[in-house]
Amino acid sequence: MVSRIIPVDPFNLVIFGGTGDLARRKIIPALFRRYCAGQFHSKSHIVGAARSDLTIESYRRLIEASLREHAPKRAQDEEALKEFLSRLDYVSLDAKGTAGWNDLVDRVGGTRTEPGQDDRVSVFYFSVGPDLFGPLAERLHRFGLAGADTRIVVEKPFGRDLESARALNVTLAAHFDESQIYRIDHYLGKETVQNLMAVRFGNMLFEPLWNSQYVDHIQITVAETVGVSGREEYYDAAGAMRDMIQNHLMQLLCLIAMEPPAKFDPDAVRDEKLKVIRALDPVMPHHIVRGQFEACLDPERAHPSYRGSVNQPRSTTESYIALRTHISNWRWAGTPFYLRTGKRLKARSSVINVIFKDAPHSIFGEEAGRHANLLSIRLQPNEGITLKVTIKEPGPGGMRLVDVPLDMTFAEALGPSGEDPPDAYERLMMDVIRGNQTLFMRGDEVEAAWSWTDPIIAGWTSRGDVPKPYVSGSAGPIDADLLMQRDGREWRGITP
Ligand code: NAD
Repeated sequence: MVSRIIPVDPFNLVIFGGTGDLARRKIIPALFRRYCAGQFHSKSHIVGAARSDLTIESYRRLIEASLREHAPKRAQDEEALKEFLSRLDYVSLDAKGTAGWNDLVDRVGGTRTEPGQDDRVSVFYFSVGPDLFGPLAERLHRFGLAGADTRIVVEKPFGRDLESARALNVTLAAHFDESQIYRIDHYLGKETVQNLMAVRFGNMLFEPLWNSQYVDHIQITVAETVGVSGREEYYDAAGAMRDMIQNHLMQLLCLIAMEPPAKFDPDAVRDEKLKVIRALDPVMPHHIVRGQFEACLDPERAHPSYRGSVNQPRSTTESYIALRTHISNWRWAGTPFYLRTGKRLKARSSVINVIFKDAPHSIFGEEAGRHANLLSIRLQPNEGITLKVTIKEPGPGGMRLVDVPLDMTFAEALGPSGEDPPDAYERLMMDVIRGNQTLFMRGDEVEAAWSWTDPIIAGWTSRGDVPKPYVSGSAGPIDADLLMQRDGREWRGITP
């Protein structure tokens, strides 16, 4: 099945941090793939803006190398690569000063403060550290680039607690309306995450069962095999709670638990997500496990411990979290949600498992065993959805039951042959151009998420909590298994 390509309106996109890791590895390769797919209007234009003093030619060479590395299949089309690069421009500027800003105004075709100056959609992507979000917003305004329909895209982290997130929201709101601000969480751009909404609200099959009467519990796992290399300073100040739970896992929790919105409209969807966050119970200290990975001595994959990696021998920052929470509303009262995420785990795997209750009575007797249905939603790798159903074991051996998967792997079912599934940034960037905020976080959502997270972090600080060590390449600390066992449950395996 080949998806339809609907071209977007012509746009003028400025990427602040255009020489940075995220721009080179994700944002520009995503734009290139959309360009190759025929989604760009010929008047569209991309400007990289960063501190480095580069000529346009040297910037294009830098990006060419990135595209060959991060979009290798598409970059084999030399003609397309050349055309795409010819649309790239570069401006050297200082986000905290005034150098380069008049140059930027010229490159984007003038100011945007009066209507009718340029009919292209105007987007500014803040792919820089959060300390620059405020200065950039202020300068866009000062230099006449913040028009009524200008859009800004803001990367994570959006604050490090409620107070800083509020302050950031106030700063951005001084120059832009909420409808112009796109707070990005790339998890929301993943095909499966969107499919979660399609599966839940596009089928009659699941929604009647989607509540505490039929669902025993839900597990959300985001496991990584990598450590913190390249991000040591940031990560040690953040930890898994701020880096992953407050945003990515919280967003997944919202989508899995929210009520059906009246329509698929940005505010209707975000209103429902916000209600979920506001209904979350505080997490009890005995319902949360923090961990830090140990050193690995295996010569094939040797690496230092977490503390060694960040060069902080006494660090109490967690590289792993497992927790149990509840949503206090009619739908979910009594169904626990278990969230876990960590680094240096046994496999890279992001998956949501919905574990249904056992059938109330087994007509097949005790020996048939327990066979709970399971809906497994895989975000990465191998995006897809699997429903585990119970059937009779084939053959003449009597009535024995086995669980078999009904499997839908999107790459096989939907992808044109030989193509990778679209990257989350492809979808999200096109949504920004289309002006669709559904998959972006609203300011009040981010603040509500911090309101839930802050007391948990404050509790660790006041108790002097120290994370439990865990074996690198394992599923995390033993205490995380005990958290489940105390409830008579177990984690699903972490498999690639
Ligand atoms: P980076 O350090 O690789 O790049 C930073 C960019 O900002 C560079 O282009 C640099 O020139 C520019 N810059 C710095 N100071 C400047 C100034 N005063 N004026 C103008 N430009 C300036 O950072 P990155 O990894 O690309 O991350 C960018 C943002 O995206 C950060 O907020 C980060 O937290 C977020 N993010 C990154 C990743 C990732 O995988 N790299 C993932 C998620 C979120």
